[in-house]
Amino acid sequence: MSEELNPFKIAQEELDAAAETMGLDKTAHAILREPKRILTVNIPVKMQDGTTKVFNGFRVLYNDARGPGKGGIRYHPLENVDTVKALSAWMTWKTSLANIPFGGAKGGVICDPKTLNDFELENLSRGYIRALGRAIGPKVDIPAPDVYTNPQIMAWMMDEYSELVGYDEPGVITGKPLEIGGSEGRFDSTAMGGMYVLREAAKTINLDLKNSKIIIQGFGNAGMFAFEIATRLSGGKVIGVSDSEGGIYDPDGIDYNKLLEAKKRTGKVQGYEKGQKVTNEQLLELDADVLIPAAIENQITAANADRIKTKIVLELANGPVTPDADKILFEKGILDMPDFLVNSGGVIVSYFEWVQDIGGYYWTQEDVYKRLDTIITRSFNDVIGMQKQYAANGKKISPRTAAYIVAVDRVARAMKFRGWY
Ligand code: NAD
Repeated sequence: MSEELNPFKIAQEELDAAAETMGLDKTAHAILREPKRILTVNIPVKMQDGTTKVFNGFRVLYNDARGPGKGGIRYHPLENVDTVKALSAWMTWKTSLANIPFGGAKGGVICDPKTLNDFELENLSRGYIRALGRAIGPKVDIPAPDVYTNPQIMAWMMDEYSELVGYDEPGVITGKPLEIGGSEGRFDSTAMGGMYVLREAAKTINLDLKNSKIIIQGFGNAGMFAFEIATRLSGGKVIGVSDSEGGIYDPDGIDYNKLLEAKKRTGKVQGYEKGQKVTNEQLLELDADVLIPAAIENQITAANADRIKTKIVLELANGPVTPDADKILFEKGILDMPDFLVNSGGVIVSYFEWVQDIGGYYWTQEDVYKRLDTIITRSFNDVIGMQKQYAANGKKISPRTAAYIVAVDRVARAMKFRGWY
C-alpha cells in the first residue's frame, strides 16, 4: 500500500494515533478531527492594467479553546483547502505544546505572487483582510507571514484592519516590521528555538555537540540560520548541506561564510568549491550525529528511513518525516524531534510580539531569546516527561506521540472546562 501523503489525512492519522494511545474522550476526538470554522473568500483585486481579477482564499480556524487562533497566511498558486486545514491543525498542537494562550489557524490565497507587482500585492492583501473582516482580530484570530508573504504584506494587512475597526490595532497580526510593532528576534526565532531543542536533546543522549557532525537539508531561511547558529552556539561542524539543486559533503566541515558567498554567486550550494557533490537522497543518508531537515515536507519516508544514520533528527521543516518513517526511526533508536516542537520558536516569538503590541512596551533581543529559551525548553521537558510517564507504565512512545499527547490533552481539557463536551 502506498503511503498517505494528503496533508490533512496525515494530520488526522496523527491525531487518531495519539487519541488511541492516550484514551481520548470520543467526543473530544470528534471535535478535534475537523476544523471549527472554514471561511472561503472571493477577492476582487484592481490590477495595474486597469482590469479587475478575482482571487480565492481561505482562513481556517481549527480550534480556539485555549485562546484566539494563530497561524500564517500563504500566497501560493497551488494553495488548497486541505493543506490549509492540515496546517491549522498543526498550529493548534504547536501553540498548545508551547503552552502559549492561542489556538490554531491558517490562511491562504490562491495566487502566484511572482506575477504580481507591489501595487497588485497590496490590493490583494488589503482585499483579503476586508473579506475576512471581523473573523480576525487580536482576540479572535491573529495571522502572520508564511510561504511567499512577508513583513511588508503584514504591514498592509495591519493597516487595513486598523482602518476597518477605526483605531490602531498592531496586535491583529504578527511578523510586522519593527517600525510598526514587530518584535526583535523574529527573523531567526525558528532556527534559534530549534537550536535550544537540539541542546536539550543532545543532553538526553550524552552527545557532545562540540564534537558533533551535522547535516542540513535546505539552505533557505530556516536552514541558513540553523547552520550559522548551530556552529556558533554548539561548536559542532556542518559536514553536509543541500538545496533543491543538490548537496555538498565535506567531512572536515563546511565554512559558512564561503558557502554563503558561493550560494549568492552561483545560486546553489554546489557552487561551494571544496568537498564533494552529493545528491539530495545521498545527503540524508550521510554518516553524522545530527540531521536537520529544513527544506520541504515528506523527505524521510518509509522508503529511506531505514538508511538514516544520525543519532538525532531535528525537524526544522514542517512535516519532513512521514508517520510511517517516524515509526521506523523510533524502532532504530533515533531521537526524532518533531516539527511542532522544533520549529515552534517562530510562533513563540509571534506570541511575544502580540504581548508587546497589547502592552505597548517593547523588549530587547536578549530578552526575547531568553524568554524563548525558557518556553521551548519547558516544552521539550514536557515531551520527555510524557515519554517517561508512559515508560513507567511499560509503554514506549516516540517523542512525536508524546508531544501530541501533551498538546491534545491541553486542548481537550480547555474544551472540557469551557463545557464543549
Ligand atoms: P525557504 O524557501 O527559504 O527555503 C527552502 C530551502 O529548501 C531552499 O534552500 C530550497 O532550495 C531547499 N529545498 C527545496 N527542495 C529541496 C530538496 N528536495 N532537497 C534539498 N533542499 C531542498 O523556506 P524556509 O522558510 O527556510 O522554510 C523551510 C521549512 O521550514 C519549511 O518546511 C517551513 O514550513 C519551515 N519553517 C520555516 C520557518 C521560518 O521562519 N522560515 C518557520 C517555521 C517552519
